[in-house]
Amino acid sequence: MESTIAIHPESVSHKVVGACPHDCPDTCSLVTTVENGVATRVQGNAAHPQTGGVLCTKVSRYTERTYHADRVLTPLRRVGPKGSGQFEPVSWDIALNEIAARLKPIAARAPEAILPYSYAGTMGFVQGESIAARFFNLLGASLLDRTICSSAGAEGLTYTLGGKVGMKVEFFTESKLIIIWGSNAIASSLHFWRHAQEAKRNGAKLICIDPRRTETADKCHEHIALRPGTDAALALALMHELVVHDWLDHDYLREHTLGWEQLRERALQWPPERAAEVCGITALQIRNLARDYGACRTGQGNGPAAIRLNYGMQRVRGGGNATRAVACLPALIGAWRERAGGMLLSSSGMFPVQRAALQKPELLNGRRPRTINMSTIGDALLHPGDATFGPRVEAVIVYNSNPVAVAPDSAKVVKGFAREDLFTVVLEHFMTDTADHADYVLPATTQLEHWDVHGTYGHTDVMLNRPAIAPIGQARPNTQIFRDLAQRMGVQHPSLSDDDETLCRTAFGDQVDFAQLLEHGFAALPIPDAPYAKGAFPTPSGRCEFFSARLASQGMDGLPDHVPNYEVAGSSSAYPLAMISPPARNFLNSSFANVTSLRDIEGEPLLEICAADAAARGIADGTMVRVFNQRGTYRCRARVSPRARPGVVHGLGIWWRKFGVDGRNVNELTSQRLTDIGRAPTFYDCLVEVALDAA
Ligand code: SF4
Repeated sequence: MESTIAIHPESVSHKVVGACPHDCPDTCSLVTTVENGVATRVQGNAAHPQTGGVLCTKVSRYTERTYHADRVLTPLRRVGPKGSGQFEPVSWDIALNEIAARLKPIAARAPEAILPYSYAGTMGFVQGESIAARFFNLLGASLLDRTICSSAGAEGLTYTLGGKVGMKVEFFTESKLIIIWGSNAIASSLHFWRHAQEAKRNGAKLICIDPRRTETADKCHEHIALRPGTDAALALALMHELVVHDWLDHDYLREHTLGWEQLRERALQWPPERAAEVCGITALQIRNLARDYGACRTGQGNGPAAIRLNYGMQRVRGGGNATRAVACLPALIGAWRERAGGMLLSSSGMFPVQRAALQKPELLNGRRPRTINMSTIGDALLHPGDATFGPRVEAVIVYNSNPVAVAPDSAKVVKGFAREDLFTVVLEHFMTDTADHADYVLPATTQLEHWDVHGTYGHTDVMLNRPAIAPIGQARPNTQIFRDLAQRMGVQHPSLSDDDETLCRTAFGDQVDFAQLLEHGFAALPIPDAPYAKGAFPTPSGRCEFFSARLASQGMDGLPDHVPNYEVAGSSSAYPLAMISPPARNFLNSSFANVTSLRDIEGEPLLEICAADAAARGIADGTMVRVFNQRGTYRCRARVSPRARPGVVHGLGIWWRKFGVDGRNVNELTSQRLTDIGRAPTFYDCLVEVALDAA
């Protein structure tokens, strides 16, 4: 939609349809009102069923972010020590020439010493990995393992269901039992929550499983506050109950699953009492949940039952196994038979994205660069280089990410980015903690200023983003910045000349009607209502794979199991509390932490702690505390809160370090250890102690 409405003779107002770029499953359709070239309002598109005219608080204030006084509007060159945030404006010509002069000799000598670092600052395929990937492939730079958020769950799903696939979100409205597992949907999946609310009004029971008593838990009929990292034990005990009571869909198990006999034996090792001990809940809670779930099995007339899983629960050592265990559950009761049954963690694997056409891996020209895991960037930047690791990292190009704030084990990340011999370029909207450590900061456009196209991970519509306004200041799209840099470095290939609208068309090729995208801004994928009613999972066997031969062939357990945390709650007298770090409601990862009105709502960095744990330490609500472990110390204000269960504290994130006390955030405490499957970080597998702050 691009309608033009005359307001008065000198002023022309029009509306432009775009898509929210942020790391949120809802990928809303945005309608931006533009008056005389200025975006004056961003609203939810009422014509897009998944958006329903509603945006979250964060993106409702998008014009505040876009026109923020702190936007980086010119290229900047460092003039002070690394991390000091002291820069001077320079022209694009100077910045590009000087960056090219630094990168060219590295690229000629040891291209793997150049590391791109990017993630979901935008979820768009074009401003994400299109021209950027082509450029780095032409250089032969290191590859980046993009693991920091979801790869444990994603691989867990893939080994079980065949991909990041699930039920269609709109059908949660018709579910009769909704288990919201590891998701604060009110804060992080608002539009799913609308479906759950409607289901509740229609008589559905809502059960929340989460260590934290979230705003979502408040609104559910029941809340099961298990210990972090124990979700697989709970899932296996639920299976135990389904087996011993024969609350099973035997036909579905026989026809559409693989490894049922082995999984059955595994489940029988997990009576509710055993799981209750591990999870820190009662056996009765497990039995009741299993009874509710089992009552929804095929043919009983009580279902369908649906599980909305989110990524919080997979940020522990056993995150991949936990996802596998939960993903097995719907097949046991035949929930997939109905469109309102099954589960949804991510729908992103249902999109026919033409990644190879966008990223052109053939430009590597036979080279096979090493891959560096973004979740261990601290260690990677501090590695001196050797035969196994390859060359020391000499240059990092950061775009769509803020690793100094979001990567685990901050002390090492900061030390790495503070290396005077590391050449760092950051493409950004704002002077983030990472930009403060750059040698050059290049001003990037926001979503209102560029083209992009999006899949989603919460629904199944392809979304197009048209630019609503011209780039602000001297900002350029990421694509253009990489084209310009390639040109200055003498890196040539015809594919670098593809313009952004062409790249938008390339992302889905002939799999999606681009004319429809241009007309409406969205296009639904042709997916059956109940895609796995008759099996046909995208696994090698076409079945839901309880037993994964692919995992077994790697020497791993072919069946899901409970894999205890690295840092098991209660295992350390020095650090007796388990800490998770869920997002503050008005931030999205580290995005929006600099939007004043949103930061004002959040107030300041907080640690939620239950009354008993606070009292045992002499901590009153509102006092300053030190949260510490063997990796570091983080100071913040205590909130004594019923949202925390005994033994577990919540360091709400992700604040930029510069907005925290002492210039630190909660990742000072998290570790670089990785998950069982997916090489992902273990942010929620973290023991700490808390004490009154004497400073
Ligand atoms: S952050 Fe999520 S809920 Fe908010 S506008 Fe974007 S997609 Fe919609």
